[in-house]
Amino acid sequence: MDAIAAAQGLSEIGYLLRQNENERFRAKAFSAAAWSIALQRPDLDSLQRSENLTQIEGVGAGIARVLSDLIQNGESRYLNRLREQMGQPARDDETDLDFDDYQGDVHSHTNWSDGRATMLEMAKGAQSLGYRYLGITDHSPRITVVHGLNAERLVAQSHEMAEVQKQVEGVTLLQGIEVDILEDGALDLPDAVLELLDVVIASPHVKLRQEPAAMTERMLRAASQPHVDVIGHPTGRRPGSREGASYDFEAVFKEAAQHGIALEIDCDPARMDLSPEMARLAFECGCNFVLDADAHAPAEFAYVPMALWMARRAGIPKERILNFRSVDELTMALE
Ligand SMILES: [Zn+2]
Ligand SMILES: [Zn+2]
Repeated sequence: MDAIAAAQGLSEIGYLLRQNENERFRAKAFSAAAWSIALQRPDLDSLQRSENLTQIEGVGAGIARVLSDLIQNGESRYLNRLREQMGQPARDDETDLDFDDYQGDVHSHTNWSDGRATMLEMAKGAQSLGYRYLGITDHSPRITVVHGLNAERLVAQSHEMAEVQKQVEGVTLLQGIEVDILEDGALDLPDAVLELLDVVIASPHVKLRQEPAAMTERMLRAASQPHVDVIGHPTGRRPGSREGASYDFEAVFKEAAQHGIALEIDCDPARMDLSPEMARLAFECGCNFVLDADAHAPAEFAYVPMALWMARRAGIPKERILNFRSVDELTMALE
């Protein structure tokens, strides 16, 4: 079994365990083991033969047993049992998605806002994974605690980007923003600024507990803004700790589809937003998707390969996921 497939099995176990408050620590352990495998891509078959699976960082005896079952049988009895318990059985219409076809990530942060790495470090991280592009999408001004970027700082950032671009051959850097969706659905930066950027991700971060009617209005407005390319982590949920916003999902997804706005499957294990079930609804509403790590450090890029099962489970074909497109096709889709 290849490392990515194993990482996805462990990631799904972590995801399912997260729904149960008593299993929070175990959930985190499984997600961390999945992450470590997606990052290091160890030769699992040989570690299995030599009974050395626990040499993998984050893999203790318990996880090694599950991993061993996955490697030997191509599936995990533990995972199958959890799926039954959580009412989320495998489906027969899952799509086949291969990480080798993934071209690049369009949602990432740097130390211009709350990222923990420089733009150059992030770009090199993307380059080492063979990505053809990387969207740098730091936060907008309202998120003051993380030094969100106003127009002036975006200009300064574009100068740094031009310098960094010279140092990372093969990876096209896209300048973007993760702009906050304000309480009334307006955006945290004016159109005149947004239209200059390569990629605009509009995300809800605060006041997620608005009444569903007001929240629906807010999201409908955001999903019809002319310069928005993507709705980021569309519910704002944190599986196991915070329920996401509640609104008329079908109406908002249809509005997004109509305006050519993609919905994000944020692969951060603490988010997993949209969930596979919600992503399936969005797919049926005609939406395109981006599959992103929302990375705040280079190692977090590995969230995408480990969570690819989410899009598969949602039954989304490759053609509807923008990250499987070439940089030219992507920039066309983002225009
Ligand atoms: Zn965000
Ligand atoms: Zn983000």
